[in-house]
Amino acid sequence: MTDEFERIFGAAPTGVWAAPGRVNLIGEHTDYNDGFVLPIALPHSVRVTAAPRTDGRLRLYSAQGDDRITDLPVAGLAPGAVASWAGYPAGVVWALREAGYQVGGADLYFDSDVPSGAGLSSSAALECATATAYRDLYELDLAPAELAVLSQRAENRFVGVPCGVMDQMASACCAEGAALFLDTRDLTQRQVPFRPGEQGIDLLVIDTRVKHDLGDGAYAALRAGCERAAELLGLAALRDLPVEGLSRALAALPAELGPLVRHVVTENGRVARAVELLDKGEFAALGPILTEGHASLRDDFEVSCPETDLAVATAVSAGALGARMTGGGFGGSVIALVPQQLTGTVEQAISAAFQAAGYAEPATFTATAAAGAHRVG
Ligand code: ADP
Ligand code: MG
Repeated sequence: MTDEFERIFGAAPTGVWAAPGRVNLIGEHTDYNDGFVLPIALPHSVRVTAAPRTDGRLRLYSAQGDDRITDLPVAGLAPGAVASWAGYPAGVVWALREAGYQVGGADLYFDSDVPSGAGLSSSAALECATATAYRDLYELDLAPAELAVLSQRAENRFVGVPCGVMDQMASACCAEGAALFLDTRDLTQRQVPFRPGEQGIDLLVIDTRVKHDLGDGAYAALRAGCERAAELLGLAALRDLPVEGLSRALAALPAELGPLVRHVVTENGRVARAVELLDKGEFAALGPILTEGHASLRDDFEVSCPETDLAVATAVSAGALGARMTGGGFGGSVIALVPQQLTGTVEQAISAAFQAAGYAEPATFTATAAAGAHRVG
């Protein structure tokens, strides 16, 4: 990557940084309800080779981008000004400056093996790689959680995507061999050991390679529905509704909001149960919680799609201990916990089922819990 940097920018870089993509084990659509999530960082990451500049220019190039350098004046960055992929890193620089950090320009060369748009958080990886490089280039006193929040602000305000904070927290704060148990209300976090391989269990990731267009508008509508339900219930957020209060709440709410509330409340409960099991090292017992979570996303939250439903059903019937879609939904990826001797069988069953249904061949890989954003060279 140093060679590429020099070829593109004509000078030597200062260093190389990496920020990972993620899969969320359980706790979906809870992060914008002040709830709980449990992601792991993937071994896949966005790498950025970088050098500071003294002339106030931000120059951006991605090996997966548009074959050109995007050259922006740092002082002129404003929400909505950058329409391309470059809005994610430019937004991070904007967010740093908005937060009072005196940062100038830089040359940034990106290269990534996080599949883009697959629900594995390539966008958060791109942002957190940028923020981590800037932290070191400009010697900022920036803790991982703060770096994540600024990255989220870049995506919310600069790019205009109303995402919660999970993806950026996962990319910035995860530890190797652990899942990040995160309370998205106050960002308190705990690393929970997650090494299912030691018990002969694979975490299989199935990228369905579909992304349904309706996802973008639907996400904002779901978010608004959850906020409306909390308001009607007199709560700050749906996180404040305990499971014992669920049936009374459902009786009080308009029919269309009930299933949303039921998903969020039961999903927070599934995170708590999952953490208890992981603390005891009972990885196999996590399987049924995943499958239960998928049913809730499919039937109550209605964010699954035929491809993810087929991958989950096929994985489970081929011997997976449990499976669910991960990420926002309307396509993207599925995770499955699989006894290692059955991983090949499950992969083949999914491939055959997709072929029979006329869907494109999915991409599958096994994942271990990797480290969050860090300097690599
Ligand atoms: P996800 O985060 O699930 O991968 P998003 O739609 O949130 O999906 O983010 C995908 C977008 O992030 C891409 O359309 C592109 O703009 C940007 N992106 C991700 N990875 C890269 C990369 N390596 N180079 C350039 N842009 C990227
Ligand atoms: Mg994203």
